[in-house]
Amino acid sequence: GEVPRSQGKAVRVRDLRKSYGSREAVRGIDLDVHPGEVVALLGPNGAGKTTAVRILSTLLRPDAGIVTVGGFDVLRSPTQVRRLISLTSQDTAIDELLTGEENLLMMGRLRHLGRAEARARGGELLTRFDLAGDAQRRVKTYSGGMRRKLDLAMSLISRPTVLFLDEPTTGLDLRSRQAVWDVLAALVATGVTIFLTTQYLEEADRLADRIAVIDGGRVIATGTADELKSRVGTEQVELLLDDPATLSWTVSTFGDSVVRTDPAGPSVRVATDGTAAHVKHVLDQLERKGIGVASIALHRPTLDDVFLTLTGQRAEREKELSLS
Ligand code: ATP
Repeated sequence: GEVPRSQGKAVRVRDLRKSYGSREAVRGIDLDVHPGEVVALLGPNGAGKTTAVRILSTLLRPDAGIVTVGGFDVLRSPTQVRRLISLTSQDTAIDELLTGEENLLMMGRLRHLGRAEARARGGELLTRFDLAGDAQRRVKTYSGGMRRKLDLAMSLISRPTVLFLDEPTTGLDLRSRQAVWDVLAALVATGVTIFLTTQYLEEADRLADRIAVIDGGRVIATGTADELKSRVGTEQVELLLDDPATLSWTVSTFGDSVVRTDPAGPSVRVATDGTAAHVKHVLDQLERKGIGVASIALHRPTLDDVFLTLTGQRAEREKELSLS
C-alpha cells in the first residue's frame, strides 16, 4: 500500500559507498526521493548507476552509508523494503518459453497474489501496455520493446510504492522507447514513486522531476532539467554577419553580453533572455550602426550541454589532480 506521508522520504541515501576490490564504483552518494517524485540518476557508462540501484533495491550490500526505502533500512529490514518496491533491469525475470500472460501470472503468484487477483491485474496491465493482442504468444517471439513493456508490467503486478528502473529504454529503438515513456508517464499520474537510471539526457528531461548527474561514483550536480540547463548558461542569439569586417564592431556593441565569436562565420553569439523584444532590440542596435545581418538563430542550452560541461569539468579536475 501507500507509504504514509509521516514516513517522509520514499528513498533516503546518505554517504553511500561501494567498491569492487580496489575499484570504487560508488564514492559517497547523498540523495532523497520524495513520495510521488520521479528522480533520474543520469550518467555515462561505468558511472555507478547500476551499483547504486542494486543497493537501493536490496540486491547488493553497501560498504558504508545509510539507505532507507519507505522508512526501512535496506540492510536491517530488506524484507519490508522488498514488499514496497519493484525493480526492472536489463537482466529480466521474463521466461522466454512462456506467453506474456503466463509470465504475468507467474509473477503475480511469486508476489503472493491470489489466482483471480493475478489474472485480473495481469489483464489490466496487458491492456494498459497495449500487449493484450499478443498475450497468448510466447515471449521469444516478442520484439525488444514488447519485452520491456512486459517486464514493466510484471514489476507493477504487485502495485509497488517505489519503482526502480535501471536503464528502462537502453537498446530500444525510437518507437519502443516512446512506447515505454508513454507507459511511464501514465504511471507517474497514478502517484507511484520512480527512481530510474539512464544514460539518455532526453529520457531524464522528459520523465524526471529531478535529475542527479552521476559520474565517477559521485553525484556532481542535482536539480530540475531547467535548473541544470541554466547552470551552464543562458539562451543565446547567434548573428550571422554579412561582412567579416563588421565583426569587431559587433563585439564592441554588445560588450559583456557576447558569449562567443566565430570569425569564420562570421558570427557573434549574444546572451539573450529569449524574448522577441530583446532579440528585436539586438537587431535594432545593429541596424542603427549599419551592420548587416544575414540570418539569426536561437540557441538554448540542452541537457547535453549540461552533461558535457559537468563531466568535462570532472575530467579537467582529475587531470589537474594527477598532474599535481
Ligand atoms: P552502465 O551504464 O555501463 O551500466 P553504470 O553507471 O551502471 O554503467 P556500474 O555498473 O554501477 O555503472 O559500474 C560502476 C563501476 O564498477 C564500473 O567501473 C564497473 O566496471 C565496476 N563494476 C561493476 N560491477 C562490478 C563487479 N561485479 N565487479 C567488479 N567491478 C564492477
